[in-house]
Amino acid sequence: MKRDDIIFDLIDREKERQISGIELIASENFASEQVMAAMGSVLTNKYAEGLPGKRYYGGCEVVDEVENLAIERLKELFGAAWANVQPHSGAQANAAVMLAVLKPGDKILGFDLSHGGHLTHGSPVNFSGKLYKPTFYGVEQETGLIDFDKVVETARKEKPQLIIAGASAYSREWDYKKLRAVADEIGALLMADISHPSGLIAKGKLDDPIKHCHIVTTTTHKTLRGPRGGVIMMGEDFENPWGLKTPKGKTRMMSSLLDSGVFPGTQGGPLEHVIAAKAIAFGEALTPEYDAYTTQVQKNAQEMAKHFLAKGYKIISGGTDNHMMLIDLRSKNLTGKIAENTLIKADITINKNMVPFDDKSPFVTSGMRVGTAAVTTRGLKEADMGKIVDFIDRVLMNHENDAEIANVKEEINAWMRQFPLFKA
Ligand code: PLP
Repeated sequence: MKRDDIIFDLIDREKERQISGIELIASENFASEQVMAAMGSVLTNKYAEGLPGKRYYGGCEVVDEVENLAIERLKELFGAAWANVQPHSGAQANAAVMLAVLKPGDKILGFDLSHGGHLTHGSPVNFSGKLYKPTFYGVEQETGLIDFDKVVETARKEKPQLIIAGASAYSREWDYKKLRAVADEIGALLMADISHPSGLIAKGKLDDPIKHCHIVTTTTHKTLRGPRGGVIMMGEDFENPWGLKTPKGKTRMMSSLLDSGVFPGTQGGPLEHVIAAKAIAFGEALTPEYDAYTTQVQKNAQEMAKHFLAKGYKIISGGTDNHMMLIDLRSKNLTGKIAENTLIKADITINKNMVPFDDKSPFVTSGMRVGTAAVTTRGLKEADMGKIVDFIDRVLMNHENDAEIANVKEEINAWMRQFPLFKA
């Protein structure tokens, strides 16, 4: 077969883009070469519907070993008692959980998308808002923080079947303990979607949801630095609260319901090449090097926040506990759309983002979200964060001056080439 030069040339162009720019999209990272090699391996050829040891296809002996290793490493990493590593993405993991634990029309309580939540936590354009009845909590306007006492009040009033903790753009700690107490009080299940900070949580840099939540989901490609994908975990397996029985009359455990939520509930064959890459990433995350990486991600975020504040930018909640921050650009007379479109001309990638109580549309927005997971993988340290903020400020303060933006781009391209793209 002829090599598909068109596509490989595009891949080379994308590699060049990644090497020469500053990547600040909070949900992105650079996976290691061995993680990528596993994704491009012969495991992509294998069908393996079912679970290790219980497949609907023959020839699964090898992929069974791969998937068992992924499960065991993930359990070790988070101190989980049970895990399913098959979800193709974070959205798929959440869909599988909801299919397993809810009936259509049941009520869910999640973090408002316009305050930093995720589509799969009840947005009307997503399955979660179409199949279930969504209710929301948000942040306080004055502080930018979630008031967990108010979330408890909302939970008592709304009595949802499922409470969801977790966000795409919230830079502070979560009070999982308080949420579990109210979940128990009203007979709800508590799920934490830790897609963004999961790498920091795995290394004990943030509060541990596994101890408090019935179910935890995460993507594997953000701070966790693995392949694109999702997983579901539990701190302990427990009997389902709905009294569902197996055909032999035994009570079905939650793990069994969740496994069925993934397959056959919402997916077909698992992506064993991606599961192998997940196993590698979990192995990497178990090392002291990754522990040091997560410490650096957090330090870099705190340092970056300091520099933004020093230049008069408004950070929602005034700072960050994790790897990201949300910046309200209204005090600089800019929109998220202008910031995103201008910064990209200098090879700085961020994303425009709604800020809480935003007066602009999701296509324009008043904010930008930035994160340090990717630049930290490239080897940048605290001392580099001031330089990045200087570049951003120069571009934004000269957003109509193409010559100055071109100067910044040239400096950035020369600087970033010193930092390898992939971890050895
Ligand atoms: N949950 C949260 C909190 C997220 O931030 C994201 C992605 O940004 C997802 C779920 C969905 O992950 P995926 O894009 O892998 O479906």
